[in-house]
Amino acid sequence: MKKKSRKILHLGIRTNGFRHTLVKRVLSPWRNYQNMLAASQWWSAAELQEYQWQRLQTLLRHAGRNVPWYQQLFRQYNIKPERIASPDDLQILPILEKQDLRRHHEQLAARNTLAPFLYRCYTSGTTGTPLTLYRDLHNIGFEHALLLRQLAWAGIGARERVAVLKGDTLPERLIAKHIFHVYSPADNRLVLSSFHISSRTITHYLEALRHYQPVALDGYPSAIYALANFFSEQHLHFPLKAVLTSSETLLPQHKQFIEKIFQCRVYDYYGMAERVAAIHSCERGSYHIIPEYGIVELPAADEDDSSYREIIATALTNMAMPLLRYRVGDLVQVNNDTPACPCGRAYPVVERIAGRADDYIVTPDGALVGRLDHIFKGSAHILGAQVYQPDTGHVILRIVRDENYVEQDGQQILNRLKARVNDGMQFEIEYINDLPRGGRGKFKAVVSDVQPFADVAAGGLK
Ligand SMILES: [Zn+2]
Repeated sequence: MKKKSRKILHLGIRTNGFRHTLVKRVLSPWRNYQNMLAASQWWSAAELQEYQWQRLQTLLRHAGRNVPWYQQLFRQYNIKPERIASPDDLQILPILEKQDLRRHHEQLAARNTLAPFLYRCYTSGTTGTPLTLYRDLHNIGFEHALLLRQLAWAGIGARERVAVLKGDTLPERLIAKHIFHVYSPADNRLVLSSFHISSRTITHYLEALRHYQPVALDGYPSAIYALANFFSEQHLHFPLKAVLTSSETLLPQHKQFIEKIFQCRVYDYYGMAERVAAIHSCERGSYHIIPEYGIVELPAADEDDSSYREIIATALTNMAMPLLRYRVGDLVQVNNDTPACPCGRAYPVVERIAGRADDYIVTPDGALVGRLDHIFKGSAHILGAQVYQPDTGHVILRIVRDENYVEQDGQQILNRLKARVNDGMQFEIEYINDLPRGGRGKFKAVVSDVQPFADVAAGGLK
């Protein structure tokens, strides 16, 4: 690449980055939260509970006074916020569903948030449900401080340079010139396109990384895995301090491979646009639920395996749109025998992020078959694969082959899939050139068009 084209500052992204950084770093009270979070990570379980309880009381009173959705709901259920005596009493509230949020976002916005301090954002609708959400400066500041703390847990300083691979769309005119990066000086981020990683473009990525020398990568596991693959093929070395992954399910074999190629540890973290719950990885490799961020309930999600839990959470940091007992649609796996984390924090631990509820095949009798990521383990000659369920009776295994692929490779995965979904369904293999991606280029290993939790959404889950 010519030297001239290296320092690309695209005005749009630069301005957005600048505006975003202005809101985050200048207007929002993030420093207060940074100080708080530095201390609160060492609070005892009782101190964390007390903090949650104080926040919850404030939130409930606020919702009852200023949020039309909750004013009506409290009337309907005869709930008096001041009579709620403990976090357990939250259970009297019905679960807030995604479709409620989609249809009634105006009703869920607090009436007393001053317009200049109210930020509207939209989700891409990865699961077919685009949402309109409101945030206030406290929420933005808290989130920023929390992400800085996740970086700190990974050994990355707030001012250090991080390369981002997260579904940002770069301008066409740059892509046409084979430029797949933009540097955002406002927050010292090198933004790389996660859509164009291939054997033809990999040298451009390497060039940008060498030029900007980021100390860490932060992005979708599938994009970072693809990058690692090409680095490995071409025997390229790019040691980093840490890799951070989020937004997609991180497969154990991908984690291992990324750690080997970039010679550092992977810190996987979890959040969502609705910002009701956060799960971050500590230095000792545990997934910690962040209690200061939200009150997380984990009801069982799988009748046959109680270790699978659904995330229902109450956001504690966003007064502009208080979401109480919101069903996120994601699952985690817990292990009741897990001892306290050696890092010393009293934060609850989950075993792993088990993906979205629709990372599951729904069998004709309504059973959910999950944990399908294991079927891809050790698969040879396959560049990518996805399980797709178009309707109740069919499952299609989509495969992107490499040049050494033989039919047996696909058959092996199909056999593992059949062994798990043995319920009179029809299976087929489909060869494709590129894996389909959801909103903002997110990859999902399992996609089902059959509505999961159909009974649950009607009020069935206990
Ligand atoms: Zn820990």
